Amino acid sequence: METKQIKEEINRMKKERKAIILAHLYQVDEIQEIADFTGDSLELSRKTALTDAETIVFCGVKFMAETAKILSPEKMVLLPALDAGCPMADMIARDDVLKLKKNNPGAAVVCYVNSSAEVKAVSDYCCTSANAVNLVRSIPEQEIIFIPDKNLGQYIARKVPEKNFIFWEGFCVTHHRIRGKDLTAARKLHPGVPVLVHPECQPEITKGADFTGSTGQILKHVRESDSDEFIIGTEMGILYRLTTENPEKSFVLLSTGLICPNMKKTRLYDVYMALLEKKHQVHIADDIRRKALVALNRMLELS
Ligand code: SF4
Repeated sequence: METKQIKEEINRMKKERKAIILAHLYQVDEIQEIADFTGDSLELSRKTALTDAETIVFCGVKFMAETAKILSPEKMVLLPALDAGCPMADMIARDDVLKLKKNNPGAAVVCYVNSSAEVKAVSDYCCTSANAVNLVRSIPEQEIIFIPDKNLGQYIARKVPEKNFIFWEGFCVTHHRIRGKDLTAARKLHPGVPVLVHPECQPEITKGADFTGSTGQILKHVRESDSDEFIIGTEMGILYRLTTENPEKSFVLLSTGLICPNMKKTRLYDVYMALLEKKHQVHIADDIRRKALVALNRMLELS
């Protein structure tokens, strides 16, 4: 089947099944092109909670599709690429969280949305990189167990110095790869060009950058900036929206390794097959879903 025909079929089935296609900003261009909505984790969560579609085709990784199902249990949620996981989410399990809670009574567990439904179910609050700082600042607890991303946790701790933090040794394999020498080399090659990075990068990167924010916040920053050139320190998929929205501006990546293989697993044909065969449906046990929803709702209420 040719690409044009696949796209036509996707559009036809979408209408037939009252479906919406959501795509993360790290997805490949062809997926972002056909998506009804693209965004970062927070924007996608909000969209999931508000849509009246009956089926959500979630082009992202597993924890994102799970989040959609937790927020919209009555809807059919499809993950086109079944093996699209997140190594960071796999770095912590439910029992690890229970142990942390036992060892730190009274501390609040703030769980990055990049985590499994089971981990969310034993956490007190969820957050995304877009709202993490404000969420941690606004909750009453003084002691924070931040899981699983230590880099994001350390970034929040710098912004909220009045709180005490316990970290987990998790990290994003893509963002963690950027080194100080990449930043030095980029600055040398592009003097005066602002460096915008994601808070999943290591502290030496977030401390040395000109702006740190979620993918959605990076997009906003570029839109509002007077600069016409940028060095981007997040997954390369963001370049699609950056260049589409800002054709007059130019972008270079901070490191050549900024590719998340899991985010690149979903292709047009997978979306077509997902709609055709209603696969792969996300299922979450009801007790886990209800507990995870509490942490997610707290996040949505506070953000
Ligand atoms: S970019 Fe990092 S955090 Fe996001 S899905 Fe890939 S490995 Fe996980």
